[in-house]
This record gives sequence, C-alpha cells and structure tokens, in this order.
Amino acid sequence: MTYDVLIIGSGLSGLAAGIRLAHFDKKVCIVEKHIEVGGLNSFYQRKNRTFDVGLHAMTNYTPKGVRTSPLGKLLKQLRFRHEDFQLCPQHMSEIRFPEKSLRFTNEFEFFVQEVAEQFPSQIDAFRKLVRKIETFDEIDLEGDTRTSASTVLKSFLSDPVLIDMLCCPLMFYGNAREGDMDFYQFVIMFKSIFMEGLAKPEKGMHFLLSLLVEKYKAAGGELRMGAEVESINAGRGKVESVTLKGGETLAAETVISSMGYVETLKRCLPEMSEVETWPTGQLSFMESLFVLNQEPRNLGFDKSIVFFSTRPRFEYRVPQDLIDITSGVLCCSNNFDYSEPPKEGLLRLTNLACFSGWNALLRKDYVQAKKQWRTQALDSILTFFPDFRDSVVFLDSFTPKTIQKYTGHLNGAVYGSPRKVKNGATPVKNLFICGTDQGFLGIIGATLSGISMANLHVLQKQLGTQ
Ligand SMILES: Cc1cc2nc3c(=O)[nH]c(=O)nc-3n(C[C@H](O)[C@H](O)[C@H](O)COP(=O)(O)OP(=O)(O)OC[C@H]3O[C@@H](n4cnc5c(N)ncnc54)[C@H](O)[C@@H]3O)c2cc1C
Repeated sequence: MTYDVLIIGSGLSGLAAGIRLAHFDKKVCIVEKHIEVGGLNSFYQRKNRTFDVGLHAMTNYTPKGVRTSPLGKLLKQLRFRHEDFQLCPQHMSEIRFPEKSLRFTNEFEFFVQEVAEQFPSQIDAFRKLVRKIETFDEIDLEGDTRTSASTVLKSFLSDPVLIDMLCCPLMFYGNAREGDMDFYQFVIMFKSIFMEGLAKPEKGMHFLLSLLVEKYKAAGGELRMGAEVESINAGRGKVESVTLKGGETLAAETVISSMGYVETLKRCLPEMSEVETWPTGQLSFMESLFVLNQEPRNLGFDKSIVFFSTRPRFEYRVPQDLIDITSGVLCCSNNFDYSEPPKEGLLRLTNLACFSGWNALLRKDYVQAKKQWRTQALDSILTFFPDFRDSVVFLDSFTPKTIQKYTGHLNGAVYGSPRKVKNGATPVKNLFICGTDQGFLGIIGATLSGISMANLHVLQKQLGTQ
C-alpha cells in the first residue's frame, strides 16, 4: 500500500497537517516515535498528577467570532468551534525589569498606555513602530527572513531598556536566534502576545491533543505510535519510502516531516550535503514546576505570566553556566479565567539553559545539578518575587537533555534552527518540513504551520478548484 501522505511526528504541526489532509480524503498516516502525542507540547504524569510539558499559555488568543485572526483561521481550517478548545483568557501579565515594569492584558491599548506611562519620551516612536508592525505581512511564505529586529527597533526607539523589555517575552516565546531576532518573527510574536493575547485551555494539553487526535481519526487518518523513522529513502531526489526502526518500510507519494530540518535531512539516504552546513538550534530551557498547597494569589502572585530580567539589560543567549538565573519566565497557571479554580497551585519557572553542559554530566551529577541550579534560580528571583518555598508540596524539573530525549530536537532546541524554511521545501522533491523549522512557532504557530504546509504542498490543486 502507498500512502498519499506520510507525516513524521505527532506534535501540533503533524496532527494539524494530518487533520487537514484527512478532511480532503487523502490516505494519510502519522508515524510518531514516542508513546504519547504532542512532542514539545505533550504532557506527563508524576505522583498522580498530569503536567503539561510546555504549556504556559497559548498565544494568539482572540474571542469567539474573530475569524480573521490566526486562531480564527486555525479553527475554521480544522473544523473546530471556538468553544471546543475551552480557552480561559489570562488575567494580566508583566515584563519585570529592575527599574521598570510593563503590564499587559488581552487588550492591546492597555499595553500602549503602560508604555506611555513608563517611557513617556518613547511613546510617539512606539506608536510608529506599532503601525509598521500592523502593516507588515509576516506570514508571507516567500517573505524576507533576514532583516534583524534589533536594527528595526533601534531605528524607531532610542531607549535600549524599552527595546529589551519588548524583546524579552517575544524571545522567550519564539526565538531561535541568540542575541537578536528576525524581524518577521518579532512581528509574529508581537502580534500574537501583545496585540492578540494569552489564554489556557481549561483542561490542559492532554485535552487539546485528544481533541486533535479524535478529529484526525474520525476523518480516517492513521496514527502509529512508537514508530520511529530510521531512514527516509530518497533515491534520485524523490522519497520512495521510509523505514521504521525494526525494519518495516512504508511507501508514500509525499512525506511531511516535523522533526526539524537538519534532523530530517540526517535521516535521508543518501545523506544530503546541507546537513554539514545548516545551523542547528542551540537555545533551550530548564523548566521547574512547583505544586503549591495554596492559591499562589494568597502568596502575592497575582499575574498570569511574568517575563523578568534581574539585570537592567536582558540577554538572550546560551548561558556559560548550566542555566542563566538572571532572567526567565514565571508562569502562574492558576491566574487564568477558569470556570472552576484548579485544585492546587502551580508555578512554573523557565530559565535559559545550556544543552552541552547538561549533556556532559554523569547521571549522579546530573540529578545533583538539577537540584543545585533549581535552588540557585529560586534564590535569584526572591528579590523580585514573594518567597513561596514553604508552600511547595511537589516539584519537578527538566532540562534540554530531557527535551532532546523526548522530541528528537538536536540540542533540545525548543525553537529549532535559527534558519527557517518558510516554504517547507527540502532538496528532495516530495519531502517537506512543517512545524518548528518551517518558522511558525508555539502551539498556534506550529498548528498553523501544519495546515499551511498541507495546503501548499498537497492540497493546492484541490483548494484552487473549490
Ligand atoms: C518547555 C517548553 C515550554 C513551551 N511553552 C510554550 C507556551 O507556553 N506556549 C506556546 O505556544 N508554545 C510553547 N512551547 C513551544 C511549543 O510547544 C512548540 O513550538 C510546538 O509544540 C512545536 O510543535 P511541532 O509540531 O513543530 O514540533 P514537535 O512538537 O517537536 O513535534 C515533532 C514530533 O516528531 C516526533 N519525532 C521526532 N523524530 C522522529 C522520528 N525519527 N520518527 C518519528 N517521530 C519523530 C517527536 O517525538 C515529536 O512528537 C514550549 C515548548 C517547551 C519545550
């Protein structure tokens, strides 16, 4: 049997591509190496609790009825109703630096007022920057990917602290590049976080992923778990089949891979020369989860998410140490507009982390280092946040090494390679990529990436005739 399309990976982009193709009656199969779906945004169990791996918040939140936003388009293309996702908007989030703080909600004008109050000399320039962002076509698949955000920001704003404060959340939530950001990516993230907003699905990623899997299977899609692709057999510049670990071979007319660009080409036989020169992603995180015996609000945590830097200037780089304790994201999962309050309190702390450092440690040193760096990260933020340590009833941390192990992304790079392939093409004619390395990041971004790559490379003719 030959599949019309074989999709590698059951993360958000792979599932979305699968649903889209199955809806158009394609014979489609998703192969996933792991035993759970979700990839970078999956879930896991510890001590009878289910934790989301990567969910702080869904970006791009728009309310029901807004059809032209990325969320509205995604729902329409995958045939969901807004209420199916059970999204709970954020209360209020904050960018906290030593001298300044900027709060934001899902109402963009509130953020503009904050900038006006905190940076009065910059507000006119900021409004001009916003106009540029509003008119920029960031999702053009053939568009410019090389302009630097830092160059554009400096051409509008003269206060480096404001530039750093704007970049801090956008980089933490979607930047694969050290020190700077591609301007189109800055625009994507600016719109998705500040101009649209943040929300959480009431029942977490397990629920959201189950919805996607049900939709996919109901449309006739096949999902094979524990099925790792060992090689993509691409003789004469065209994929003929893929071989799974264990030896089984599956034939397909088209293959869409969400593994990552280099990760995909590394599996190609014969090997592609790009593998040698293509930049691999380096940026990854250590994430610590703290379950509390009370509402975080009672301890003084009233924001949904705080993006912070304990130093006046923010640096987004792979740290020299195992983690960078001077900046991070503190997410308070309780502070979203749930219909029922969660049973326990949960805080998540994210710090930039160095894959090679973690990877070099022996097992016993690795366990010890996780404890030690978690303690240091906490000590560092206690000048900035209330002390919650006495209320912790359970804690867990994972590192870039865990991320690589469970998702296959080289270096545990959460946002993949700094060089994106917006049209998803590879040197192999019928092999395309979607997801992280295509360039649409995060939960909504990856989902839209799967949809757009399915539309562009498989459904184009059908969509054109409809
Ligand atoms: C700690 C953390 C926090 C995050 N927080 C947020 C957040 O708050 N909000 C947000 O919007 N986004 C967040 N993200 C980012 C978001 O999770 C990702 O951008 C998105 O999930 C990427 O989806 P994807 O489909 O592109 O890739 P992936 O999810 O990586 O999917 C790729 C899949 O391919 C599978 N695979 C790999 N190799 C093979 C192989 N050889 N054979 C078969 N299968 C294979 C993997 O197992 C994986 O399931 C976070 C990520 C992390 C790690």
